[in-house]
Amino acid sequence: MYFNNEKERTLALRDALLAKGLHAQAEVDATEQGFESWTPDNGAAVVARAWCDPDFRERLLSNTLAAANEVVQPVPFGDWDAVALENTHKVHNVLVCTLCSCTIKSLIGQPPVWYKSLAYRARLVREPRAVLREFGLELDRDVEIKVWDITAETGYMVIPQRPSGTEAWSERELASIVTKKCLIGVAQPDVHSVVRDERRATSLSEVQHA
Ligand code: FE
Repeated sequence: MYFNNEKERTLALRDALLAKGLHAQAEVDATEQGFESWTPDNGAAVVARAWCDPDFRERLLSNTLAAANEVVQPVPFGDWDAVALENTHKVHNVLVCTLCSCTIKSLIGQPPVWYKSLAYRARLVREPRAVLREFGLELDRDVEIKVWDITAETGYMVIPQRPSGTEAWSERELASIVTKKCLIGVAQPDVHSVVRDERRATSLSEVQHA
């Protein structure tokens, strides 16, 4: 049997499973719900906590999975180990899965289309500085770029550098500027993308225009 596209093939598979009594809608719903709860908001909340709480930052760096579970519970990683990589003034970390397109989905969300592309996977390991530049991320020459290739055993998340001028921000406001691209390492948090706490709108406006 031939199918015109992936959707037709998926629906045919579903119908075949239903016909054999093997299709459990509850399981499918639970899996879908799981996927929907796996968003970069989870990783962003973890990063924001690390920025605000030095003790948590230490725990996140030494035992990422356990620490992440303090903030977003539960974080299902399957059999993976998780490692948080901290960007500094001297080192910039960036992630790739050269084999396919793995991410720690429960913290970073679904992999973007560009992350799955052959071009990204091949070029990032060969010319990371050039690839980051194409994402609009121009790093100083003296910043070392570390490319981390995700394996079947170990996944990573990047802790971006906290932007200056955000010292008075709430944890929630800080989380709002940490995107999926930041967690992968192809972007840095943009202070202008902040979602403000309403009661602090005035003072934040002052920070942004300082
Ligand atoms: Fe993969």
